[in-house]
Amino acid sequence: MLLSVVVPCYDEAAVLPQLYARLSAAVERAGHDSELVFVNDGSRDDTWAGMLALAARDPRLVCVNLSRNHGHQLALTAGLSECRGDLILVIDADLQDPPELLPDMLAMLKAEGADVVYGQRAARPGETWFKRLTAHVFYRLLGLLTDRPPPADTGDFRLMTRRVVDRFLAMPERHRYVRGMISWLGFKQVPFRYERHPRAAGETHYTVRRMVRLAWDAVTSLSVKPLAVPLRVGVLCLVTAGGALVAAGWWGVSRGELPGLGLVTALVLALAGGQFVALGVLGEYVGRLHVQAQGRPLYLIDEVVGRAAAGRVRPAREAA
Ligand code: UDP
Ligand code: MG
Repeated sequence: MLLSVVVPCYDEAAVLPQLYARLSAAVERAGHDSELVFVNDGSRDDTWAGMLALAARDPRLVCVNLSRNHGHQLALTAGLSECRGDLILVIDADLQDPPELLPDMLAMLKAEGADVVYGQRAARPGETWFKRLTAHVFYRLLGLLTDRPPPADTGDFRLMTRRVVDRFLAMPERHRYVRGMISWLGFKQVPFRYERHPRAAGETHYTVRRMVRLAWDAVTSLSVKPLAVPLRVGVLCLVTAGGALVAAGWWGVSRGELPGLGLVTALVLALAGGQFVALGVLGEYVGRLHVQAQGRPLYLIDEVVGRAAAGRVRPAREAA
């Protein structure tokens, strides 16, 4: 049984020594063979040199140097693809998620027979009210926009089994919102409540711009519902146009004069409605193309019981 810990690092030279010390202590306490997969996501500081220095002392370290900065979600994907463990822990470099929780998470995974134990933040000390507010709005919006919203207040801190990671890696989509994709996979996923700490050193890389981009990746990766908005607006316009036409007719008959303004209003609304409906219809097709292009498996089998191959999972059958 090999345990991998995957850590995406961007400009994290300041936390690297502390990260390594606390991670390796936690991994030792967990009592499995282990590897630490550090991914250098095109850092501008001495992160890579720091990694190499640590790797020279510790053969458990696997250092992956990306060609440039690819962003958190892709660095994470690269680490997951390079790791070899049967169990895989994903953790941020900044020690906001305490590595010391690893033994408890392992125990939970085994006790519950789960495939994923994901960290769910009970508290967010050290985070600004702005970050808390945007996170709150974001998770509610995601719940509104998607059919199967991922659990709220979770980041990428999670322990997974090999089969979950393999299926995640088999998803070919380019815009990767990792936590949403893992949640989409299903299997038994259980929350692990914990307190998130302030950053150990360095500063956050999630500027407002990056947060908006991640949020948009989340929505488009999980849902095509936004594409249905024009259709609804269009139908609303057409219904209002009908109402305006009726009102104009009533006005005309009762007053005996041509209701110019009412007719023009009805006409404008009808034209706008028609255009929105046309957009909505296009959106319907674009949405289907989008889902097809994502190329996700049609379904995932947990296990098959009752034939010769009972209990075995056969990914080949899941291919879309
Ligand atoms: N990160 C990365 N590439 C990037 C930005 C961030 O690999 O382009 C890593 C970073 O080193 C950290 C994790 O992603 O380990 C989360 O980033 P950060 O702590 O800055 O985000 P926050 O916790 O503030 O959302
Ligand atoms: Mg952080």
